[in-house]
Amino acid sequence: MAVTALETEMVEACVRSLEGTLDATPTSSWTGTDPAVARDLLNRLARVEARISAHKMAAARVLEKARQAARDATRGGADGAGPATTTSTSSTISIDFGGDRHGAADLVNTATRIEEQTTHTEAALAAGEISTKQADVISRALGSLPDGVTEAQRDTCERTLLKDAQKLTLKDLRARARRITETYRKTEDEVDADEDAFLRQQEEQARAKTSFSMWDNRDGTYTGRFTLPEAQAVMLKTALDALAAPHQNVGTVNAATGQMDEVGFGQSYPQRLGHAFASLVELLPADRLPSNGGVSAVVTVNLDLSTLMGGLKAAGLSDGTRISAEQARRLACTAQLVPMVLNGRSLPLDLGSANRYFNQSSRRAMERRDGGCTAPGCDRDARWCEAHHLTPHAMSRTTDIRDGALLCTFHHHRVHDQGWTGRINPDDGHVEWRLPGSSTWHRNRRYRP
Ligand SMILES: [Zn+2]
Ligand SMILES: [Zn+2]
Repeated sequence: MAVTALETEMVEACVRSLEGTLDATPTSSWTGTDPAVARDLLNRLARVEARISAHKMAAARVLEKARQAARDATRGGADGAGPATTTSTSSTISIDFGGDRHGAADLVNTATRIEEQTTHTEAALAAGEISTKQADVISRALGSLPDGVTEAQRDTCERTLLKDAQKLTLKDLRARARRITETYRKTEDEVDADEDAFLRQQEEQARAKTSFSMWDNRDGTYTGRFTLPEAQAVMLKTALDALAAPHQNVGTVNAATGQMDEVGFGQSYPQRLGHAFASLVELLPADRLPSNGGVSAVVTVNLDLSTLMGGLKAAGLSDGTRISAEQARRLACTAQLVPMVLNGRSLPLDLGSANRYFNQSSRRAMERRDGGCTAPGCDRDARWCEAHHLTPHAMSRTTDIRDGALLCTFHHHRVHDQGWTGRINPDDGHVEWRLPGSSTWHRNRRYRP
């Protein structure tokens, strides 16, 4: 398959003319464009983008083939393997793309898959009829057709998907692709079985790709990266969305003004999700985590009795991480962490034991009494609440619900942060809060109008 000089000239001329046109058109020339025209042009630009990506893929394939040829030559020949031949095409390309290895690998993989699995998809992409993502979905679908599919059946599947890509969203196209064998199967059962086989294969691959890593930024934060199978990712996303949902009528009483504060105002969606993730970690059921070879999987908070009683001495987690007194009191307050209360000389006074926690029945009684977070204005229901001990010194002695109040994670922070005083109203037995320096008791009327 000799490439003629003419063909090389043609692609060079194509890229040169694109460059020339773009050079001659500054983005400022869009200013003042009629919106209807801009919309049409934007749509056409998206198609141009798809067409260009078809060319990028063709170029990536040239590189990939050259690399494979070089590798095969080294393997077969007497020459030792040079470092250049072991570098993957994607990392070669990514150098020219500001180090975007993920993007480069995607390009090479899709390019290779389209060539191996499809017949008409590349032409459709080059003509601007489908997008790169649609081409990706179609090539994946054809790549996972069951064994024994004939060339003619394959062809029908591809043509059907190319046609459907014109009218389906990406998500719907993916769903369609999973059941594409209905173009040639005789019964619904067979299509069901094909889809199931596809999903099983996809789940197995997902398990192989699953990973999690996080690293210490050494500034009091960690950053991480993970790959999760779809089902677990959806579970995580659903939980985070629920935890991050803007409270409908969330207020806390502002210490300075005595007025209700808006909460979460000005936080971006990723920030809200971040806080939701932190809350989720604290909600992990300590009593249901496995122990790791006899070592507890639960972090212990080690704090002095004076800290527990309101002092300012920092505390530690079982791995040596230092945390503020406020954070320690709050964590010691939740049932998910075991506080180790020390006297001044670091001798344990009280190892939090099962009976210091509000047990199931007192927790249920509190849920019934409080209905949800007891902070004024908060709309978190009981599922997302932690049990706060109204009197810290009683922590190790009682599981009486007259010592407890439900608070969402956010307000639990607030209560410890700002030093709210809580009480059970002597007349009707409901939880009330008072801010430092204030004499007014506030209560959440949301659940008890
Ligand atoms: Zn608390
Ligand atoms: Zn709350």
